[in-house]
Amino acid sequence: MDAISYERASDLSGALRSAQQPGACFIGGGTNLLDLMKGGVSRPVKLIDITHIGGGLDTISTLPDGGLRIGALVRNSDGANHALVRERYPLLTQALLAGASAQLRNMATVGGNLMQRTRCSYFYDTAFAQCNKRQPGSGCAAREGFSRTHAILGASAQCIAVNPSDMSVALAALDAVVRVRGPNGERGVPIGEFHRLPGDRPDLDTTLQFGEIITAVDLPAPLYADHAHYVKVRDRASYAFALVSVAAALQMDGHTVKSARIALGGVAHKPWRAHAAEQMLAGHPLTDTNVKHAAAAALRDAQPQRDNRYKIELAQRAIIRAVNAAAGMPGGVA
Ligand code: SF4
Repeated sequence: MDAISYERASDLSGALRSAQQPGACFIGGGTNLLDLMKGGVSRPVKLIDITHIGGGLDTISTLPDGGLRIGALVRNSDGANHALVRERYPLLTQALLAGASAQLRNMATVGGNLMQRTRCSYFYDTAFAQCNKRQPGSGCAAREGFSRTHAILGASAQCIAVNPSDMSVALAALDAVVRVRGPNGERGVPIGEFHRLPGDRPDLDTTLQFGEIITAVDLPAPLYADHAHYVKVRDRASYAFALVSVAAALQMDGHTVKSARIALGGVAHKPWRAHAAEQMLAGHPLTDTNVKHAAAAALRDAQPQRDNRYKIELAQRAIIRAVNAAAGMPGGVA
């Protein structure tokens, strides 16, 4: 049994000081970290409990530009059901409520949701020696193993895992910025640069640096409140991770798409923005043909594994459904 020290931080400065020790780890809701520790996947030497540090990390507030700041310690259920989130960012509400279970959403925090690790079963099962994410340089059991739930975009020879977060897919479509504080001060990280592709360092999920902590997520002024929809396709109706998910947000001018934001989940090591599809939709009427072509463009570079070729068509169909539902078109919601 490993010895673990526990410390309850009373403010952000104290938490940051404590985090300068190698092997130290912040704990908020603990809904993923405790699973990882019980399975022997994560072995922190010190847990820094940040649930009582206050300082605005557990609140939601408006920003001068009309945007919204969601503190990193806001519980997923509180974020989803906050009046301003529901009114201005319904895409985020839908994505949060699609995640996990009610009990988990009551515990899990926004910061923890951003940091949750892949659900690749080989990663969680230490009986498998090969996992570059858990043990760099050991190999990847999934490449020759069961790859039904794995990546079809942006994977590497080192790792084909996917990011499991629903919330992060909506944040990607909404162009959120992750606020981070560390020994060198504060910085804002665009959500597209927060999570990493695996490359040759699949052990690194994010661009967060040693000793840094997530303090908040900033959402820009709402442009997509009227036309947004999240589709999650999974093996059962609740408490299951996405095989494929789509966050679609549109600005409409009559029947014409002024601008589009589309992000995919369950297909890559990070939330995957479908820029080509967005560009194909923008400035054009929302016709069945245009949406179908945009969906095809989004998956043009897909490279499926042995067991997950089905995800290409599934993702295309989910894009069509999400875009049509966002626009309020018939047949948008199955
Ligand atoms: Fe490990 Fe990634 Fe391979 Fe899964 S896909 S076994 S997480 S290296």
